[in-house]
Amino acid sequence: MKIRAAVSRPGSTAPAFETLNLEAPRAGELGVRVVAAGICHTDLHAQAGRLAPLPIVLGHEGVGVVERVGEGVQGFAPGDHVVLSGSSCGTCPNCLGGVPSYCDTAMPRNFGGRRLDGSTALRTEDGAPVHSHFFGQSSFATHVVAPAGSAVKVDPALPLAVLAPLACGVITGAGAVIAALRVAAGESIAIFGVGGVGLSAVMAARLVGAERIVAVDVNESRLALARELGATDTFAAGSDDLAARIRALTGRGVHYTFNTTASPAVFSTAVDCLAMRGIAGFVTAPQGEWAPPMFQMLSGGRMVRGILGGDAAPRTFIPMLIRYWQQGRFPFDRLVRFYPFAEIAQAFAHVAAGEVIKPVLRME
Ligand SMILES: [Zn+2]
Ligand SMILES: [Zn+2]
Repeated sequence: MKIRAAVSRPGSTAPAFETLNLEAPRAGELGVRVVAAGICHTDLHAQAGRLAPLPIVLGHEGVGVVERVGEGVQGFAPGDHVVLSGSSCGTCPNCLGGVPSYCDTAMPRNFGGRRLDGSTALRTEDGAPVHSHFFGQSSFATHVVAPAGSAVKVDPALPLAVLAPLACGVITGAGAVIAALRVAAGESIAIFGVGGVGLSAVMAARLVGAERIVAVDVNESRLALARELGATDTFAAGSDDLAARIRALTGRGVHYTFNTTASPAVFSTAVDCLAMRGIAGFVTAPQGEWAPPMFQMLSGGRMVRGILGGDAAPRTFIPMLIRYWQQGRFPFDRLVRFYPFAEIAQAFAHVAAGEVIKPVLRME
């Protein structure tokens, strides 16, 4: 079928619209009409050609309505509303253990730009292949084919477009606190960088009853929002003796830190302010040289811990977050700003400039 898609080609700062041909869903896939798709920093890295082959259709926070069901798919029917998460095999030890973001085949499935058999679902009108299946979905498009295993069915009465960021930005931050670090009532956490992922972590830390929730960012308006959403203490990034000031809040350091930035200096601060046996979680690699402070880690039993997808299983975690949201206890919709699909280039520019926390494109 013919679709409208925003295609990322080498040398451009934002995707540009093209008419493409989309294959019918193959065995195990769903054909989904995309209603909305969030943009996150991973899309910007991929646009620059650092993560996946170009040309490609990016987009990995898609929500939509099932139109076609591929052979062998069970549990889905046309008309179902779905949130599309990352792709995983469903059968390897980590998938079976409920942590599909560490699927044995996560990298080729999500960043390979094609199915595991090497095929791509997209072609130009001239027949030239365009990479597809970014995070299993490539949802900067009016329609996608995606593995049924990555789709999470949701109540059709819910406002579907608002749910778009749940599958990446929100699950990454909330899952880090709830599922990966397992922050408990009475404990403390410092969160570095309060964009969509960091603010989701702030809200989750309040949800689990953390006593001290410290937010650090360069942007004062984001710190103000962090205070509204649950931060008990906020600091401007780069302020003098930041680690010492955070340690002073508890007298002995915080139980956990969660770093959403790529700054090597922040990686150091995030270990410096940990209490003995504290854990420093991070979601993106440092951009630039950074050596883990081995003596601090050894002398205090401290740990530095990478976290993908919040260590969470989308099929159970996303419905749980939706219930918390409906109860008013997890207001992630506060982070969202909608853009018409036609304004994708402007939305990319706003993300790059830090002018928006969680842009969501509306395809209809
Ligand atoms: Zn797997
Ligand atoms: Zn993402």
